[in-house]
Amino acid sequence: MTLMPNVHDAEPIPAAARDAIDALMQSGDLFRYTAPQDAPVALLETEFAELLGTKYALAVSSCSAALFLSLKALGLPRDARVLIPGFTFAAVPSSIIHADCIPVLCEVGENYRIDLKDFTTKLDSVQAVIISHMRGHTSDMDAIMELCDARDIPVIEDAAHSLGTTWHGRNIGTIGKVGCFSFQSYKMINAGEGGILVSDDADLVARAVIMSGAYEHNWKKHSGAPELEQAFTHWQNQLPLYNLRMSNLSAAVIRPQIPELARRVRDGLANHDYVADRLNASPYIEVPAPLGPERRAPDSIQFNLVNLSDEEIRAFAAASEARGVKVQVFGLSQDNARAFWNWQFLSEQFDLPQTRAMLMRACDVRLPVRLTREELDIITDILLASVGEVVGPIPVYGT
Ligand SMILES: *Cc1c(COP(=O)(O)O)cnc(C)c1O
Repeated sequence: MTLMPNVHDAEPIPAAARDAIDALMQSGDLFRYTAPQDAPVALLETEFAELLGTKYALAVSSCSAALFLSLKALGLPRDARVLIPGFTFAAVPSSIIHADCIPVLCEVGENYRIDLKDFTTKLDSVQAVIISHMRGHTSDMDAIMELCDARDIPVIEDAAHSLGTTWHGRNIGTIGKVGCFSFQSYKMINAGEGGILVSDDADLVARAVIMSGAYEHNWKKHSGAPELEQAFTHWQNQLPLYNLRMSNLSAAVIRPQIPELARRVRDGLANHDYVADRLNASPYIEVPAPLGPERRAPDSIQFNLVNLSDEEIRAFAAASEARGVKVQVFGLSQDNARAFWNWQFLSEQFDLPQTRAMLMRACDVRLPVRLTREELDIITDILLASVGEVVGPIPVYGT
């Protein structure tokens, strides 16, 4: 009997985390601002900024919290319009609403990346942009930065699923004014929950640190505080505190995973490309290619079903599931949080026919980086067999 690969669990947390957690259990020192210096959260911020090559990092409770604080730290007025791709997770437009701003959605192409034509058309009507690199698919950051810089529109990168992805060799999340990452369990580094923002902008960071909950003079416990002192002093008592801090426990779980990142990225990409090559051999499956300057860090695979009716796509997903592989078709599963028409909490609804058509045939399969070649083959064989079951045997031509 073939054992189905477990695609739900993350990797075990490195053993070093236990020692750090034991020490915290002993001391009871779980709050980031109790220790005068070197609290695990503060050390994580220093290490993460170094990893990404940015001046500053601020660890918070989630990527959604990081996005919200980024918008607040930009000082956008109430009802400012913020442009986002129509293919992202519901938490992204939600963070905009939380910041008293208005989400504006633009079209996304068949390759899951921002449609630059629609983006450009809508850009003059917005005050800020969140580039959500959905499922780690990087939109064309050269074109986006040129368009936004020319209009002085700030760019926030939602790099929740892009840790380890590079663009022209530069880390995704460091190209816009501020980048936001997630440590939720389905991302490259897993703390259950958690997020972090990175930026080189001293004023923005000082504002975000205070609003994250650095009350009184706790900002002094942030690395970089001496050079930021003027900004902190300026904003002292001027900003509301939203208390979105990270606990030392989360940082203790995250820090020992940082040295694992390069291996995870390498394995995730090799696994993804291996499965992509096999799937692309089917005339009914298309895995979009990465953009030229992009080096991806995937822990899942997305592909489009080609020339299949909605009914056949449903049959494919059912056949895969019956064989033990869960396929999410973004636009077909009920109440999917990544289908924009389910964001009925938006004040303005958007008609995005191109994005809708993509979502109706784009499939999503988890590929945790720890899977072996044998396990990848089991998954791929099932996907190909399920397509075969729906469309009939694939004709073989040639000698
Ligand atoms: C996971 C994810 C988020 C939300 O991250 P949280 O840390 O759970 O708030 C936002 N955007 C994208 C693209 C994501 O993948």
